Formats: sequence, C-alpha cells, structure tokens
Amino acid sequence: MTVSTPERPFATLGIVGLGLIGASLAAALRKRESRLRILGADQSDATLARALELGYIDEGCTDLLDLCRRSDVVVLAVPVLSLRNVFEQLAPALADGRTVLTDVGSVKGVVRDAAEAVFGQVPAWLVPGHPIAGSEFSGVDAANPDLYHCHQVILTPGSDTDPTATACVRALWEQVEATVQLMTVDRHDEVLAATSHLPHLLAFALVDSLAQESEKYEIFHYAAGGFRDFTRIAASDPTMWHDIFLANDQATLDVLDRYMDHLHTVRAALAAGDGEALHTVFRRAKHARDYFSRILDERTG
Ligand code: NAP
Repeated sequence: MTVSTPERPFATLGIVGLGLIGASLAAALRKRESRLRILGADQSDATLARALELGYIDEGCTDLLDLCRRSDVVVLAVPVLSLRNVFEQLAPALADGRTVLTDVGSVKGVVRDAAEAVFGQVPAWLVPGHPIAGSEFSGVDAANPDLYHCHQVILTPGSDTDPTATACVRALWEQVEATVQLMTVDRHDEVLAATSHLPHLLAFALVDSLAQESEKYEIFHYAAGGFRDFTRIAASDPTMWHDIFLANDQATLDVLDRYMDHLHTVRAALAAGDGEALHTVFRRAKHARDYFSRILDERTG
C-alpha cells in the first residue's frame, strides 16, 4: 500500500508528538501494512522509546530538522499552543517547499495565525487538518490503530495551498479509513466550538461544581449511567483543553452565550412549573438526538 499521489511520491512520514493522536496515526498505518517509513519525534524520550518498542515508528529522531529534511510529509500532533514554537524550529528545513506539513490541532485559526507569524503567510505546502476522532485518554499507550476508521478528518487548505499538497494529506488520512472533508478555517472553529468545545466546557464545569459540594462523596457514589455518559469527557487532558479554549475563545463564548440564554428559558419553565414548555424542549431535543444517532449509525455502517 502507498499513499503516494502521482504528483508527489511519498515514502517517508514524520510525526512530531507521539501521544494519542500521533501514535494512533502511526499504529493505523502500521496495521494497514503501509510501506511508509515512519520517523517519530517527541519531547519525551520515554514516549519516543515506547513508540519504538510498540513498533509504531521505524526510527526515533531527537533532531526535528533532521526528521523534517528526511520526510515527504510531516504531521504535527502536539498541543495547539505549541505549534508556533514547532513551526519556528522546523522553518529552516521547510524553506525549499519539498516537504508537505500538516497538523491535527483541534483549533485551526491559531494554526493560521502561527503560520503567518513564523512564515509571513500560510505557506502553499501547509495543509492544516483536524481528525474528528479521539478519546478522553492521552499518551502513546492510549494509541488505537482503528481510531480513524469511519471518522471524519477536516482539512482547511487556503486559496494559496498547493492542491498536490492537499491531495497528499487527503491520501494519508484515507489510507487509515477516514473520510476527508474540506472547510474554511473560520467555519471549522465555529462548528467545533458547538459540537466539541462547548460539551467539554459543560462537562468540566459540571464535575468541578459537584466536586465542590459538601456531599460530593454521596453524589458521586450514587451517580449512575446518565452522569457517567454526560461527564466521560471531563476526564480529558486538562492541558490540551486549556490550549483549545484559549485558542478558540471567541467562537466558544458565542455558542456558550446562546446556550446560557436557552438554559435560562428552560430554568424559567421549571421555576414556573410550565410542564408543557419543558415537554416541548425535551421532545425537540429527543427528535434531534435520534436524528443524530441515525446519521452516526449510517456513517459507521
Ligand atoms: P497527547 O496524548 O497529550 O500527546 C501529545 C504528545 O506531544 C505528547 O507525547 C507530548 O509530550 C508531545 N509534545 C508536546 N509538545 C511537544 C513539542 N513541542 N514537541 C514534541 N512533542 C511534544 O495529546 P493528543 O490527544 O495526542 O493531542 C495532540 C493534538 O491532537 C492536539 O493539538 C489536540 O488538539 C489534537 N486532537 C486531540 C484529540 C483528542 O481527542 N485527544 C482529537 C483530535 C485532535 P508530553 O507528554 O511530554 O507533553
């Protein structure tokens, strides 16, 4: 199997950041017997050693410039607020435009801003991306070779992006059985604020608020499936989410304000004992949630 496109022969992939997302990509390519040679780098020597031990990468690199010069495509799988620093480190190895660069960051505006700050503009060989797949676990040991199977990956190339670079990154994700969609940076950040960032904010806030109650042990002791379902994502990595909220603050605030307005309406209905209003909200929500479940079932077959 190969991910080469006619315009861009592609034999070596570099992955910077071998946590859940980066190591899952390496593991997914390995599982599908890709002939790609995979070079890995991570700020933690222990993580690099573990990725080698698990057979996810062929070689661990401690020199990012060396990894970049030897790779046809480099995937940056580090926290979003670290991307600017990594761009700065890689810049000397990218100047000839031979290497395609992509990332997996959950916010795309911050990637565009970092690229403009470091390279003067978003370079033609940079294809920002975001796999809509993940979990509340992090680190190389959480890697899952099927993480991207039947999941979507959003790419946000700009008008100046080289189409052969976009085709190359698309082919990479399709090889691990993901479906690729193209979107603008701003639309991506608005949509993800609603579908991912807001739910995480609510889950973190709910668990934190209950954890401060004096009867918290009793509350958690008797919590059942509903609590577990709603709050699973509050176990996600705090550093990663700190970066995401700071990087997508405005879009998250906009959707949070709309949600709080709606919550006030629901609160008022409850306070007034307005069962019909509550029933209307719940019926509408159930209808929408059932529709969403059907879409999800169709997508995953
Ligand atoms: P993770 O499991 O914590 O992995 C990140 C890895 O990158 C860690 O091994 C970390 O090392 C390393 N790292 C951090 N800064 C680095 C740097 N400057 N240079 C080299 N390595 C560095 O996180 P993740 O869940 O894979 O998330 C990575 C990216 O994927 C983030 O941008 C996130 O927004 C995006 N993403 C995450 C999910 C999800 O559900 N988790 C889904 C889609 C996209 P240390 O352990 O030493 O910090």
